[in-house]
Order: sequence, then C-alpha cells, then structure tokens
Amino acid sequence: MFKTIEAHVRRQVAPAALRAEFRQHEFEALRPFCLLIFCVSIGIWLVFDLIVSFLGGQEFTWRSWLFLSLLGCLTVVLRFTRRSHHFDVLNLLFVAVITLGMRLVIEGIPIQLRPVWLVLGVSIVLYAVSVLPVRRWSFFSALAISWSLLNPFYHTRIDIDDLEGTMLLAYAVFLSGLVIYSYLQMRRAKLHNFYLSKVLLDQAYIDALTEIPNRRAFMAKAERQMRSFDPGQYLAMIDIDNFKQVNDRFGHDVGDVVLKRVAMHIKAAMEHHEFARLGGEEFAIFFEGMAESAAEREVQALCKRVREDLGEPPVTISIGLARVIQGDSLSAALTRADQALYSAKHSGKDRFVLWVAP
Ligand code: GH3
Ligand code: MG
Ligand code: MG
Repeated sequence: MFKTIEAHVRRQVAPAALRAEFRQHEFEALRPFCLLIFCVSIGIWLVFDLIVSFLGGQEFTWRSWLFLSLLGCLTVVLRFTRRSHHFDVLNLLFVAVITLGMRLVIEGIPIQLRPVWLVLGVSIVLYAVSVLPVRRWSFFSALAISWSLLNPFYHTRIDIDDLEGTMLLAYAVFLSGLVIYSYLQMRRAKLHNFYLSKVLLDQAYIDALTEIPNRRAFMAKAERQMRSFDPGQYLAMIDIDNFKQVNDRFGHDVGDVVLKRVAMHIKAAMEHHEFARLGGEEFAIFFEGMAESAAEREVQALCKRVREDLGEPPVTISIGLARVIQGDSLSAALTRADQALYSAKHSGKDRFVLWVAP
C-alpha cells in the first residue's frame, strides 16, 4: 500500500502551492538551526579575526567592529524573520558580509598562506549554505558571492596555469560540484517526504467521496476542543431522510451525488465550525462559543438550505442537537445527539430536535 502511494507520488510533480508550503514549513522547522549557524559563524570569524589582529600584529580596528555589528544586526533580523522568502535574501546578505569579513582577515596573513585559507573559507560557507532552507536562486547566488569574494587567485601570488593554480582550480570545481549535487538531492528528498506525508495525511483525514473531514479527523478535533472546555459547545448529528429509498429508486451513483450535495451544503454553511462525514449518510458538526438559540438557528438554517436545494432528487435531513456538559466524554455527547436525532426522525423528519433530559 505504502509502496503504491509512494510510486504514485514520485511520478507526480509537486504543485507550486505545495512547494511554497514546503519551503515555509521547512524554514519554520529549521529557524533555530539557522540562528545557530549565524551565531557559530560569527564566533568562528571573531576567533580568526582576533588571532590575526593580535598574533599578526594588526590590532582590532574599527573595521572588525563594523563587521561584528553588521553580522549581529543580521542575526537579530533573523530572530524576527517569519517568511521563508525573506530568509533567502537575509542569508544572502549574511554570506556577502561574512565572506567580505573573511577576505579582510585573510588579507592580514602572509601572502603565500592566503590561497589555502581562502579555499578553506569557501568550503565552510558553501557547506553551511547547502544545509540551510534556502531556495535555489539564493543558494546559487551564495555560491557565486563566496567564490567572487574569496577568489584564491585574487591578491595572491598564484596563477591559474601554474601547478598550484591548476590544483586549486580542480579542487574548486570538484567542491562546487559536490556541494551543488548534495544540496539539490537533499532538497528533492525533503520535498518528496513532505509531499508524501501530506498525501497520506489527507487520505487519513479526508473522506474520499465527499472531500470533507472524516470521522477520524472529527473525533480528534472535537476531543481536543472538549478538553479545553470553552463555553457554548454543542454537538449536532445529521442524517439524510429516507436515503435508502433514494438508493433503491435512483441507484447508488445518484445516492453518492446526493451525499456530495449535502456535504457541500454543510461545508458552505458551517465553515467556521468543525464538521465531518461520520460514515454512510451521517454527518456531525461541533459548535463552540455559541448561545443555545444561535446553535438552534444554525441547524434550522441548514435543514432549510438542504430542503430548498433544487437538485434532483430532492432530499431533507434530520438533526439531533446536544449541549456538551463539562466533564462529558465525546461518546456520551454523541449518544445524546443521537437520541435527539432519533426524536427528530420519529416526530416527522426534516427538522432538528434539541436533546432534553428525560
Ligand atoms: P431514515 O430517514 O430513517 O434515516 O431512513 P434511511 O432510509 O436514511 O435509513 P438508513 O439509515 O437505514 O439508510 C442508510 C442507507 O445509506 C443505507 C445504505 O445503503 C446507504 N449508504 C450508506 N453509505 C452510502 C454511500 O456511501 N453511498 C450510497 N449511495 N449509499 C450509502
Ligand atoms: Mg442513517
Ligand atoms: Mg437516513
């Protein structure tokens, strides 16, 4: 079963909206990690700057303070960044500032040591960017910025065509290729996992015929809301009247269309409440923060809406309404709503009945 769904998902291209949702989801999950990477990067840069400043006899100048404050500001901005596409830009700014800072530190060491430190610098920046939740354009821009600002052939004594230069060039190509490949593969795998879990969750919590939440979704949400026990909670059980006759007279397919029609009315009328198809031709609604009269008006309006639907064949519904009492279990509340529904059926159908203690 899982393999079949997985193969089906693999064949499909994730829609643009889902990709955007994935990026946002990934950024939210990794935001603390991004903050950690920013802070650790500043720490590493500062250690090297202090070493070069004091052991290299250069002093800790205003430029070090400037870079430190710029990097600090960008980290503070990240602390308040909520959208993934803002992070794409922010990360690029951070990469530009820190690589420039690295270039200035490396300029302070003897010229023959610079190429190797420049390449080490690019390696660490590229690795860090490849594990951050950034989009492709942002990743490739970071790659270009890192190699431009930490170019090992600029301000050093090596040429591309001598031995050291050729070796460095080969290493740069190999390193970039490896990082690009692992970044793209990792993103694909993460997107695929996100897509797959979304499909599986949808299948687990959405009713396949009517495309509204199913019993499992309803039970989970209603139980959670009942635990919070906010005032004004009501439970409504809905059952289509004489539905067996619809199936017998018009066939099962028409019966299915009627189920979808009723589900559509419930969805349209109850968009601010929890609702679901419990199974067969039974539906449920969970109200919260409602006065009794308001809950009654809502279910009465729903009965009217279904009754006045011009679709063929015409159908009606009966509704049992029960107030949720503090300390109630969901099944106890459902039982009371079911008893009220029974009364609605036995007093003529196409109506609602509010449960009252016998
Ligand atoms: P009442 O007014 O008392 O509710 O009468 P009823 O005919 O609706 O009674 P009952 O609850 O016994 O009928 C339910 C019918 O719903 C029986 C079953 O064949 C049909 N049914 C259940 N699930 C589906 C479905 O997914 N599609 C279709 N077309 N019919 C379904
Ligand atoms: Mg029934
Ligand atoms: Mg029925």
